[in-house]
Amino acid sequence: VPALREVGEVEAIRLITRGAAARDDVVVGPGDDAAVLRCGPGEDLVATTDAMVEGRHYLSSWLEPRGRGARLAALNLSDIAAMAARPRWALLSVGVRPEHDIDALLEFQAGLAAALAADGAVIAGGNLVAVRGDEWWSLTLLGSVARERAWRRAGARPGDLLALTGLPGRAAAGFLLAHEHADIAREPMWRPLLEAWLHPRARTAFAQALAAAGVVSAAIDVSDGVAGDLAHLCAASHMGCDVEAWSLPEDSLIARAAGIIRRPVTPLRLGPSDDYELLLAVDPRGRAAAEQVARDTQTPLWFIGRFTPQPGQLALVEVHGGRTPLGRGFDHFTGAR
Ligand SMILES: [Mg+2]
Repeated sequence: VPALREVGEVEAIRLITRGAAARDDVVVGPGDDAAVLRCGPGEDLVATTDAMVEGRHYLSSWLEPRGRGARLAALNLSDIAAMAARPRWALLSVGVRPEHDIDALLEFQAGLAAALAADGAVIAGGNLVAVRGDEWWSLTLLGSVARERAWRRAGARPGDLLALTGLPGRAAAGFLLAHEHADIAREPMWRPLLEAWLHPRARTAFAQALAAAGVVSAAIDVSDGVAGDLAHLCAASHMGCDVEAWSLPEDSLIARAAGIIRRPVTPLRLGPSDDYELLLAVDPRGRAAAEQVARDTQTPLWFIGRFTPQPGQLALVEVHGGRTPLGRGFDHFTGAR
């Protein structure tokens, strides 16, 4: 397999962009100074960017190039989902060493393109640079949403319900198993936790269907963990939130993993974890509509708390009334709770 050094930049770009962006909303695709994209009338353009750095955001031993591409897609798609937007166009920027083999680069590209296509987006352009040190992969993803209809972190109201998709903390549990107990982590029973970390899927279809129901007042995706991202949402909305311990979804797998990685289970579930799930403020009158959308899109959805008018006051509430602050320091690395 030839290395990038032998293939050369121009040929590598030709290979990487081959067949890309043959779509009529891409007016000018790869090969010019910038892409020209046709956004419909009455729409807002939504833009996000996120990167992965070798050794820091992924380990080559755990994530092959195709999976790495899919993961880069997912973390950007998740931000677009959190805005209730439709993913449309992506710009890829890559810093790779000259000895990087071209097949691995094309595998990465294929994984990225397939994951984007599954949610309706296409790579519209990009850039390739040579690096000497750690490699990095950066994606800019553009989407569109009906004018003024994008979800924001601001907008939650007192009495709104806190809704959560999926099972929080699984990505952190998978990450910690892989980093601290690599041999155990390869056992099949832990696969769902490793999948949550390595192969997250953005909640794109759910978000778009739910947006149409018009019941969400604020939203954020979970990249820092439930406690951290809920704090971001509450800060933007000038609200507080009570998370009900008894409403958290059952997850016996993470409870078993907590024993192996020696972390208390609740901080593991609510602390730092890049799950790429959604946290939503939902009008209580819209609960049934949200549950219907969840069923229609086969999305696990839980109502786990309620927003309060006390800015910045986040707490985990026990059924007997005990309250634990859910602020900074709620962290499975310190074990605080
Ligand atoms: Mg986000």
